[in-house]
Amino acid sequence: MWSNWARIHSCRPEQILAPDSLEELRKIMIRAREVNASLRVVGVGHSPNASCLTSGWMVSLRKLNRVLSIDTSAMTVKVQAGATLDELHKELAAKGLQMLTLPSILEQTIGGAIGMATHSTGLGYKNLSSSVTCLELMTAQGDIIACSATHNSTVFDAARCSAGLLGIILTVTLPIEIQTQFCLRCVPERYEMVRRTYATKVRECEHYKFFWVPHTDYCYESFCNRVSTKEAINPTPAPPPPGFFKRLLHYHLFEFLLFLALFVKSLIPLINRFYAYLNFSKETRIICDLRRAFTFDCLFPQYVSEYAIPVDKCFIALDAIAGAIEKENFKVHFPIEIRFVANDNVWMSPAYRRDVCYIGIIMYRPYGWDSSQTLPYLNAAENALHNTLGAENVRTHLAKYFQKDLKLSYPKLSEFVALRDSLDPLGMLHNKWSRKAFSL
Ligand SMILES: Cc1cc2nc3c(=O)[nH]c(=O)nc-3n(C[C@H](O)[C@H](O)[C@H](O)COP(=O)(O)OP(=O)(O)OC[C@H]3O[C@@H](n4cnc5c(N)ncnc54)[C@H](O)[C@@H]3O)c2cc1C
Repeated sequence: MWSNWARIHSCRPEQILAPDSLEELRKIMIRAREVNASLRVVGVGHSPNASCLTSGWMVSLRKLNRVLSIDTSAMTVKVQAGATLDELHKELAAKGLQMLTLPSILEQTIGGAIGMATHSTGLGYKNLSSSVTCLELMTAQGDIIACSATHNSTVFDAARCSAGLLGIILTVTLPIEIQTQFCLRCVPERYEMVRRTYATKVRECEHYKFFWVPHTDYCYESFCNRVSTKEAINPTPAPPPPGFFKRLLHYHLFEFLLFLALFVKSLIPLINRFYAYLNFSKETRIICDLRRAFTFDCLFPQYVSEYAIPVDKCFIALDAIAGAIEKENFKVHFPIEIRFVANDNVWMSPAYRRDVCYIGIIMYRPYGWDSSQTLPYLNAAENALHNTLGAENVRTHLAKYFQKDLKLSYPKLSEFVALRDSLDPLGMLHNKWSRKAFSL
């Protein structure tokens, strides 16, 4: 039995295979085709939706996880897709190098993170898929296609975010930089003040984001910039690992209270306020490395929806979600996370041809239980965004929970599907999720 990290979805694949060479992988692909088996490639299952599920063959690339080369003149790294972001980060750090940004966690594989356009924040920075400069893909026929902006560029633009549907990503080349320190300043701020100022802040700060705590008018802004050598001399010491009481309060008590709130929903606004006070009420400023600047403890399994919308529509969208919460009297968890990402030319990237504001909505699963309002709330928020902004302005993050048709918002979907049909005419790489999401 295989389950994703959030334990929302599970499946019983006919077999789970972890090849340790390209030759073995090619044999698996060819054999799957011969016996008419469906096949899904999987990373470490951190996508909260059903994209990895299969009753056929599941292939993991975790044994193909080497950093193949580091080019310090071009400032790029070539890495196998089975490596995790954590493994890559550590190997670069050992050489005084780093990736340009990081998402909130580093457990994901490179293949999974690229497969779903994993992103961080900063309008001068692209998501991981569009940062890729070269990529190698094994198709359902077992052929290897190398591609870049100048070679097989059509496959390149499609494959960089393809949810395992065009083939298996084998290697990617990514930009790197010399290791640097960051100044991370976090500031509590009122919702109305953020509404008035975010547009300037997002352009002035390298990596700006903010949280909004539903049922309150609290936001927590985060300003993160690379610092000068002088400032970098005195980084803030790494915090000690959370002690017993801190862990008890921030994790175990929180999970327990959310569990109680499954039965007494009116507790949720109080829990939100209490935890906003604990986590988001003080201004902090630290000098730290890339990992500390970008990652944080995402706690326990959760449902997540995330939508990329035009940057100037950020508060129209937040007001629409707040309106849906109020109208239906939903009691919902925190935080709602707002990040910003630069436009790109990757066909299925939520940032295709426009700078975007991502709005991430969370509902936790205390001890694996869901609130009866989780899916009604996520669906109502998605409807509110579509009704207020128009479907063409609301692109879902492919790794997360969504209901609406992708064709309404992804202008390159039909070309993607046509390419998919030509690379995998038998539909060997499809599953139920992809047939629903990627059909026309
Ligand atoms: C706690 C948490 C925090 C997160 N934070 C962020 C964040 O900050 N920003 C963000 O954008 N996302 C975030 N995510 C989402 C996460 O980055 C994506 O779901 C990512 O795809 C997970 O990687 P994975 O290795 O688990 O891939 P999986 O979930 O295993 O697979 C994801 C998809 O990629 C495909 N795939 C996997 N490997 C390959 C390959 N080699 N070739 C082709 N296709 C492949 C799979 O078929 C599947 O469709 C977060 C998720 C969690 C659970």
